[in-house]
Amino acid sequence: MVEMRSLFEEPKDDLRKLPWEELVARAQGCTLCRLKESRTSVVFGEGPVPCDLMFIGEAPGEVEDQMARPFVGPAGKKLDEILASVGIPREEVYITNTVKCRPPNNRLPQKDEMEACWPYLEAQIHRLKPKIIVTLGNAPTQLLLKTQEGITKLRGQFFPWRNGIEVFPMFHPSYLLRNPSKAKGSPKYLTWLDIQTVKARLDELRGRAQ
Ligand code: URA
Repeated sequence: MVEMRSLFEEPKDDLRKLPWEELVARAQGCTLCRLKESRTSVVFGEGPVPCDLMFIGEAPGEVEDQMARPFVGPAGKKLDEILASVGIPREEVYITNTVKCRPPNNRLPQKDEMEACWPYLEAQIHRLKPKIIVTLGNAPTQLLLKTQEGITKLRGQFFPWRNGIEVFPMFHPSYLLRNPSKAKGSPKYLTWLDIQTVKARLDELRGRAQ
């Protein structure tokens, strides 16, 4: 009887229960949405597992699709700079996207594509057990926080999420490439403040606050 009930209560195919290698393999062969048609590679994500600090972007771009690695094109270089400004080595953070396959012509991922890909992202979060998730831009921020509010209003604040995880929205690095001003109040200026806030909170949560 108990067994029957749990059969009905649990999703038949809960990706959170898969061993990590199987999860990656499942994503590599994924055919759940139309993005399978235009991709060269599945960009699953990279970084240590588990990991205290996770970054979620929108979708792989052209370079990422070619190299099967997240944030390695121009936006990735900018993300590297942002991390370096507070002494966070890229190798110490986990980086992924709301969808694992490149949308054609770099368009934004669509709602049904993000929904189809959500079990992979959810399983990644489950296994990484991050203390902080930084969402880069509107797509991941709105997906995780279930809101229509824009990034300009939401950035720079911690939002309590599931299991004690804190979500911290920031501008997408591509937005900074399009808005290079460093003037006070500019997106770049605010992002450099935001990453300092993330670093300070991470140190605090790790019990290393000075
Ligand atoms: N932009 C993103 O949102 N993700 C990437 O991986 C690269 C560019």
